[in-house]
Amino acid sequence: MPKSRRTGRIKKIIGAIRAADVRSEAPAPQPINPAAPVMNSGRDRDWAWHCSDPEGGWNPYGWNSQDQARFAAVWCREADDLVDELIDRYGAMWVWRTPAALLTRLPDVAERVRDLAEGQLVGQQHTYRGNPTSIYEHASLYGPFHATRQRRSWPDPQPQPCPLCGHWFTAGQLNPWILRQFGPPRWCKECCLRARNGNPAPSTPDAAREAVTALASALGTIPAQSYASTPVPLDLPADRRDTLVAAMAACPPATAIRALLGAASWLEVLLDTKVVTDAWRPARGTYCLAADGHPCRSLGERAVDDWLTRHGLAHELEPTWPQHPELNPSGRLRADWRLADGTYVEYAGLTSDDYLAKIHQKRQLARTTGIPLVVITPADLADLTALFGRWLQAAT
Ligand SMILES: [Zn+2]
Repeated sequence: MPKSRRTGRIKKIIGAIRAADVRSEAPAPQPINPAAPVMNSGRDRDWAWHCSDPEGGWNPYGWNSQDQARFAAVWCREADDLVDELIDRYGAMWVWRTPAALLTRLPDVAERVRDLAEGQLVGQQHTYRGNPTSIYEHASLYGPFHATRQRRSWPDPQPQPCPLCGHWFTAGQLNPWILRQFGPPRWCKECCLRARNGNPAPSTPDAAREAVTALASALGTIPAQSYASTPVPLDLPADRRDTLVAAMAACPPATAIRALLGAASWLEVLLDTKVVTDAWRPARGTYCLAADGHPCRSLGERAVDDWLTRHGLAHELEPTWPQHPELNPSGRLRADWRLADGTYVEYAGLTSDDYLAKIHQKRQLARTTGIPLVVITPADLADLTALFGRWLQAAT
């Protein structure tokens, strides 16, 4: 099969955990009567994984009992616990969260799944030779799905009201990318799309300033130019999260704001609206200062740095990785932070589609150098306590 067609098919199976299809969907409000939930169909398809369906409702592309037996050998009790946590939060949508959740929460299990994918699953008819990342994703959807079905059940999505628009919806109507950005099902798909796409209505410079200021205040920090695709923090109170999503939906797209304000850069927008007064842009690409004065290159980095400060975890900036003949030949590679116990912390911005492979590279460097590593993805910004709980306990 030609590469492009193969890629297209991969995207059909699991592309939903990426954001590529966001813009192609037009909002289509569909109120649901809670007494008589509507089955999803067509464009409004059902994205849930159904416990009662032996294939979950998806095409397993040949994933068979032998694959599952191999997978069982790399699975473990801690991974079951992580799945239980995902089910509590995401209900029948939990399976979509496992590829990334394993990578950041149980990196050793993720590496074992990946090794399995590279060593034993690659090359079979149903897999994608030369693309271990896609096979990792496939394996970390189907493996956990079957492993979990064997030990417990979970309910299909139930109708729930959207706190922003009042329409009833089910979690199954939310695309996997919505879960990645907005967290556990709370707002209807239409409201999430409005937040993602921004307010298209023509506006005035003053209205744009007001929208940016409202966004900054709901966020409690500086909005990034990519605010529309930034994860909604989980550790804010629910009503504050509602305010934030409403503010995102009311805000015009960043490009429209820049045009309205005649700003050459997002930084100019932030200065114009007085959201920042202390930003500058020296050679290193520094964008802003963290609360403790550490310079940060992105607002994601700043969020992590501020979180570490807020929780009293000492963190040193930019430790170098030891030299390695292949992975770090110049010896100049740096991580983002080093914690007091020597653990390295990396923030992976995930701007590309290839983020699973990039995280894997960093893990390899950590594995060969023996340095413990925590990798943070934007989805993790929503709940850093889950990643750093161990250090918090040690600090108290
Ligand atoms: Zn809504």
